[in-house]
Amino acid sequence: MLSILLETTFMISLFYHKSINMPMNRYIQIAKFLKKQGEPRFRYSQIFDFVFDKHIIDIGKMTNIPKRLRLQLKEKFPVMLSIKELKKISTQETTKYLFEFEDQNRVEVVNMMAESKRHWNSLCISTQVGCSIGCKFCATGKMGFIRNLSTDEITDQVLFFRLNAIPVDNILFMGMGEPLLNPNLIESLKILTSSELFNIGARKISISTIGIPKKLEEVTKEFPQINYALSLHSPFEKERNKLIPYSKNTSISQLFDILDCYIQTSKRKVFVSYVLLRKLNDTPKHAEALAKLIKSRGKNSYLYHVNLIPYNTTGPEDQYAASSTQQTAFFQNLLRKFNVNCTVRYSKGRFSEAACGQLHAGYISSIKQPTFVTESSQAILNM
Ligand code: SF4
Repeated sequence: MLSILLETTFMISLFYHKSINMPMNRYIQIAKFLKKQGEPRFRYSQIFDFVFDKHIIDIGKMTNIPKRLRLQLKEKFPVMLSIKELKKISTQETTKYLFEFEDQNRVEVVNMMAESKRHWNSLCISTQVGCSIGCKFCATGKMGFIRNLSTDEITDQVLFFRLNAIPVDNILFMGMGEPLLNPNLIESLKILTSSELFNIGARKISISTIGIPKKLEEVTKEFPQINYALSLHSPFEKERNKLIPYSKNTSISQLFDILDCYIQTSKRKVFVSYVLLRKLNDTPKHAEALAKLIKSRGKNSYLYHVNLIPYNTTGPEDQYAASSTQQTAFFQNLLRKFNVNCTVRYSKGRFSEAACGQLHAGYISSIKQPTFVTESSQAILNM
């Protein structure tokens, strides 16, 4: 079974890496190396049992592997984790990390503990440094696109927690970047869901996206049970295109058509994220149009769940403001009047220095490099 898995993965990955010129991920490299050395298949499991069960990445300490092989592996794979922790800030329920890669680019990762279930951890990870989508209310968008994270850089954000024996129950692709625009997403998902490696069920993984039709279909085909949160933010085409400039090539109805197909096959809920911006998209007209949009999905409409997200302001020069608590409640009640399932996701991140992006910004200013605001999706801290 393992050999079939490895062979298949090899073929996919070799083709894949050739086509996009990205470094081959560590899991494939090690399997390939072992094969070249004529090692038995079980060596692969032995190595990754150490990593995932015993939380050991120092190959020198993998004592049931022959010393000769350990030395070879250590020489070939001196680095088994591509990220280093620069900073972390915690409250009772949320810990926000700033991680740095070898090239000194940085991303934020948030670990959230559910209020109701004390030991239920959700990990919000990033897929890109910066973002090309350019959402007007998001400082990561203002930063522009810097680069995609490699497969190892994506999966290492989860590996970091595994190695530190911090349980991770859910993975949320809701950090910096648009996951569907990273060509390494599918390979990362294969590694995260592989029973040989991370062994995380697809049902426990959620992708937050503005909706890139072709990619949405590709990921759904590979992982029909994965969860989606569609960033909508306005039921009106023109207004949505202003808030999310990248979305202008895709109509809202096209996205809902794809999600309807997903719902029909998966029978899973789709979350619709809606950041509430004062006097911009929080009016009764918006609530009614949003309700009509959801109800227009007919028999699927009950599986759409609107998450209303109070806006986290980015600072004094921010052109947007959060809707008042009363307006938020009013908006929610209007949706409920139309029988639309909805929840207000109050932020767990409104604490000192740890609101969206401030951890990164604070670090940058502390080392006196030019400051640029980096803010993850508003949704990160509102799950
Ligand atoms: S909200 Fe998400 S998709 Fe939009 S610019 Fe920010 S990181 Fe990119």
